[in-house]
Amino acid sequence: MPIEAQMLINNNLVPASDGGTFDLYSPHTGELVAKVPEATAEDVDTAVSAASAAFPSWSSLSPAQRGAPLKKLADLVLEKKDSLASLDALSMGRPTSSYFDASYAATHFNYFAEAAYPQGHTSLNTPGFLNMSVRQPFGVVAIIIPWNAPLVFFSKKVAPAVAAGNCVVVKGSEKAPLTCYLLSQLIPTCNFPPGVINVLSGHGHTSGSLLAHHMRIRALSFTGSTRTGRAIQIASANSNLKKVVFELGGKSPALVFPDADIEQAARETENSINWNSGQTCMANSRVYVHESIKEEFMEKFKGFARRRRLGDPMDPEVNHGPQADRLQFDAVKRYIKMGKEAGGEVIDTGAGAEAEGGKSLLIHPVIFANIPETSPLTKEEIFGPVVVINTFATEDEVITKANDTEFGLYAALYTKDVERAIRVGKKLESGMVGINCTSPTGCWDLPFGGWKGSGTGRESLLDSMEHYLEVKSLYFRTPGIGG
Ligand code: NAD
Repeated sequence: MPIEAQMLINNNLVPASDGGTFDLYSPHTGELVAKVPEATAEDVDTAVSAASAAFPSWSSLSPAQRGAPLKKLADLVLEKKDSLASLDALSMGRPTSSYFDASYAATHFNYFAEAAYPQGHTSLNTPGFLNMSVRQPFGVVAIIIPWNAPLVFFSKKVAPAVAAGNCVVVKGSEKAPLTCYLLSQLIPTCNFPPGVINVLSGHGHTSGSLLAHHMRIRALSFTGSTRTGRAIQIASANSNLKKVVFELGGKSPALVFPDADIEQAARETENSINWNSGQTCMANSRVYVHESIKEEFMEKFKGFARRRRLGDPMDPEVNHGPQADRLQFDAVKRYIKMGKEAGGEVIDTGAGAEAEGGKSLLIHPVIFANIPETSPLTKEEIFGPVVVINTFATEDEVITKANDTEFGLYAALYTKDVERAIRVGKKLESGMVGINCTSPTGCWDLPFGGWKGSGTGRESLLDSMEHYLEVKSLYFRTPGIGG
């Protein structure tokens, strides 16, 4: 029986106000797995009103009081880890074998449960005044997340926003709404007051756009594509200039110099592009290999790609599931066709092993080499298991190629020469640079985010709370304190 999902408004699990739903199909079996509410304009308004009503008392609590339900949510998420993993596998094909999201989320809920002590400045620099700045929550904050790791994005945004004293309306992705539905069932049991966390389901052009235009929402945190980020920025400008924070797409380069550990570079760059079936914002979708080591690197890279275990995302032996849905599948296939027609070198690691059949939206990793730098394959985010491996001769040449993109999320470089690593690392136009490592390697306490079209914000355990606080200066006339 398909799951009958619901939304969370004011701590009540509810259908859409007009009863409307959309169907969700498994990308592996093609079966109907859920009927999901399509939030209406009325639902968006009701959720915003609930958040607005909850704000005065929620923001008046002490940090420890706001932290208590967050800690409870952390415990429940760990308890429900397997169910959460299965729901992502069911809805968007993420292999359960790679599910780290529950421990990531628990760390974020627990950390922000203890960390909400924002500080301002004080100043005695104006004679006759003791001046100070304070940091205060916005009120109602909207959070819009993508489908490739829903619990990760839910936790990294909701935890700091509500810990800071805001009340939130979250919209999950239409491609992976089921983790949000399970969280919606857990939240009221954690003693969050009604209206503090509201969770809607629905499509971007409907409820997403309504949130972006909403006049009573004062800040919006978004992770998703650059195209949608642009639409949200315009919606903000056309409505109330709400603050927007963006984590967007990427076309991340990895640079492999001749003195690199070639085996390690091949293993890690292959993992980076094919992890989550290529559906990762920071995947190194472009690899630049020095011409002197190209053959050895390609052989090793192909070997790793051919060892991917494609299949049922619920199977613990599988590390490569289907693309998230038919739209993603068709888009990736279009790029592969375009690349094959463009006449570069093509290695289809699935050739001969026709596992891509039946109803599953599986795509074998595909490697393109010697593709023109102007091709859409090297310029556009494909979001699938498709890599372009091109060569370079000099350091300056590869830096120019790596930076010749509108994205700037994560760049990687492999070399044993420390001075070159720092020299090149400084010149890469990217929010994150891996040295002798590549994505998804990172850490949770340094700024995560992109340059250029890859975003405007930086998120981390230490940085995220900034996004959810306004600053106010208080000028306190105190003539008696002297000049
Ligand atoms: P998407 O932009 O299509 O959708 C993301 C969310 O935005 C969904 O909830 C969707 O319903 C909503 N949305 C769509 N149109 C909207 C509109 N007009 N107004 C408001 N909301 C709207 O992205 P996706 O396909 O879900 O995710 C993949 C993209 O996300 C890739 O580009 C990937 O690189 C990016 N991403 C970035 C990061 C990061 O941290 N930088 C992390 C994960 C994914």
